[in-house]
Amino acid sequence: MAVVTRFAPSPTGYLHIGGARTALYSWLFARQQGGKFVLRIEDTDRERSTGESVQAIFDGMNWLGLAHDEGPFFQTQRFDRYKEIVQQLLDAGHAYYCYCSKEELDALREQQWANKEKPRYNGKCRDSAEVREGVEPVVRFRNPLEGNVVWQDAIRGEISISNGELDDLIIARADGTPTYNLTVVVDDIDMGMTHVVRGDDHINNTPRQINIYKALGAEPPVFGHVPMILGEDGSRLSKRHGAVGVMQYRDDGYLPEAVLNYLVRLGWSHGDQELFSIDQMIELFRLENVNKAPSTFNTEKLQWINQQYIKSVPVERLIEALTWHLEQAGIDANNGPSLEALLPELRERANTLVVLAEACRMFYQDFESFNEGAAKKHLKVSSAEALELVKTKLAALDNWEAEALQQAVHDTAEALEVGMGKVGMPLRVAVSGTGQSPSIDFTLAMLGRERTLARIDQALAYVAQRAEQAR
Ligand code: GLU
Repeated sequence: MAVVTRFAPSPTGYLHIGGARTALYSWLFARQQGGKFVLRIEDTDRERSTGESVQAIFDGMNWLGLAHDEGPFFQTQRFDRYKEIVQQLLDAGHAYYCYCSKEELDALREQQWANKEKPRYNGKCRDSAEVREGVEPVVRFRNPLEGNVVWQDAIRGEISISNGELDDLIIARADGTPTYNLTVVVDDIDMGMTHVVRGDDHINNTPRQINIYKALGAEPPVFGHVPMILGEDGSRLSKRHGAVGVMQYRDDGYLPEAVLNYLVRLGWSHGDQELFSIDQMIELFRLENVNKAPSTFNTEKLQWINQQYIKSVPVERLIEALTWHLEQAGIDANNGPSLEALLPELRERANTLVVLAEACRMFYQDFESFNEGAAKKHLKVSSAEALELVKTKLAALDNWEAEALQQAVHDTAEALEVGMGKVGMPLRVAVSGTGQSPSIDFTLAMLGRERTLARIDQALAYVAQRAEQAR
């Protein structure tokens, strides 16, 4: 049997981290089984669904590289099909019209609250609906009264729910539009779903859906309910915890492969391995090894994983991902050393691409002022001598290479009988503006002669001005 799984988001907001993880698990399982992965947009709630949100889902899935094999399907384009099935259920006696008014239902609910009973429909129209002129009825599913609904959850193990707990749910509203539990079953049948991997917030819907499958004479798929994600304070992950749309992680400088790696580990493990290539995830992921308990989101861990990826992805891949950030930061990487030469050094110290792009800036952009603290400390009046001498030595070099550059700094310190830091630090602040840069020889080599000398001049001008003010 060929495996078919799906991701079926409702487009009522961003693709958030929990949704992305559910999509990943579903996608991994399909890929591993050589099956198909379907994308379905559950947009029947027309008031809450937006085109913007549909686009955010596409963008997020695309950025993460979770490609679908079929779809995207849109539920709003399948209303005729749902009507047909509702009619089929009515004809077979598995569904019935209900004319109960909102007032009646409200009164019923209040009474049940007062009696400390679970609010549920009392089945008034189940056997003898009194047709009311001028009232458009809803359609309710005739849920079995007896027995239990039992399924082997791929993640949770056996789950059993008594039919006594379930009432006759509405499958079509008075205006004829179908409800979630109906549309999801019709789609999962029509789209040949073999495995439904979804959030455990749907666990209460599953027995209802299984009853609808049975009424339609269809075999239910295997269900796997993924536990939720908690914020670090133990409450459900929300915006408050910085849980944001997936695309925000791109904006914040995460590599999609790092996000996937983080997500696969958030609720699943394989021994104590932390880093997984996509191929390894596909090979090793098992639904039955997904944790039954909720997982806690941990930004530090995500950053750590991101850093590992920034250090280790092929440099071409790093450049590809970084290019967008350089553009965002207004840095023109044509205006300086090649990124291939620069990144092996800079990537060692960046935990996000935003940080990495900023570390690149000094190699492509001149600056007009120095970081105040750094300048105050290292561009002193007394630094002028070291800067002058090192400039002379650097200017005299025939070859602008790390070793010779290092030697020039060294010779300057020796000639002035000072420690290396007395030359190195002013020089570093002079060329970087901030004092933050890789090793001085590498930095100078990457900056090139012209930029280096011009920046030393700029620093000397600053020092001269300081000397002027001190007088
Ligand atoms: N559309 C539902 C949601 O976004 C998911 C339905 C399902 O996976 O069965 O919560």
